Amino acid sequence: MSKSQLAGTAEILRASQKDEEYMRYMRNLLADITQRCLGIPFWMKWKDLSNTFSDAVFFSLTTLSGLQTLGEEYANIIQIDRNLKSIPSKWARFTDVSLRTFGCYFLLKFQTWIENQLSSLPQAESNDDNTNIANLKIYLPIVFKAISVLQRIHLIAFYLYGNYYNISKRLTGINYLVIRRWLSHPDQQTSYKVLGWIAATQLFLSLAINMYAISSKPSVSVKKKESNSGEVVNSKNQCSLCFEKRSYSTATPCGHLFCWSCITSWMQNKEECPLCRESFPPSKLILLQNYY
Ligand SMILES: [Zn+2]
Ligand SMILES: [Zn+2]
Repeated sequence: MSKSQLAGTAEILRASQKDEEYMRYMRNLLADITQRCLGIPFWMKWKDLSNTFSDAVFFSLTTLSGLQTLGEEYANIIQIDRNLKSIPSKWARFTDVSLRTFGCYFLLKFQTWIENQLSSLPQAESNDDNTNIANLKIYLPIVFKAISVLQRIHLIAFYLYGNYYNISKRLTGINYLVIRRWLSHPDQQTSYKVLGWIAATQLFLSLAINMYAISSKPSVSVKKKESNSGEVVNSKNQCSLCFEKRSYSTATPCGHLFCWSCITSWMQNKEECPLCRESFPPSKLILLQNYY
């Protein structure tokens, strides 16, 4: 099998974008059903799991069933194993889909859990313990940052060399073949290489700036966790999405107020006000600086 039959950056990106479109559509459908049946606060609590479950269903109906995804069909590509001889085994496809859906979900949840644990740690009695906790608070975010840097390096490698767009595909060795070669655009590879070099330069610069910022600020004081207990939550300062006291009050163009985190995560699924359904882009949200 000649190398020219392997799908290029353009085909893989096109397939992935098309898949993302359909996956977003499915997530919105599931979100709508959950909100109507179980209420908005329930959905807000479980929306990450709901989105992951929706993606898992999408891949179960396509990749795991031995079919092309809608995006792969659109871009005329099929999955092929590491040896470029046959379609990937069921096990390889299952590992790919699991890593891509639940793997990402659990990694994010684990990260959030560790961060919450760290921020709720009590002030240690001895100075040594305080230093250890302060060090953990400094270095753990660096470890998490390293994970996101690895993801960016992986994306740069994709732009420069083509093939693996998802880390799960690289780990399982799943490649793509172009079904109709006359529809492929090998000449587009150069522009993606330029994009890869620009992304690499940007990553290098942001790392250099971060390193400089860390080296010029050696000690970080341990911030005390602000306690919310005892604060009265009334309808004036309550968020209509989480039903708790609003944190970082944010106004929509229609004048409704929510927590910043609640309304921004809501808008990832629907670009409209949860209360009056007025539609507006996320750029119209206003974080109220001196209002609680
Ligand atoms: Zn809220
Ligand atoms: Zn509204």
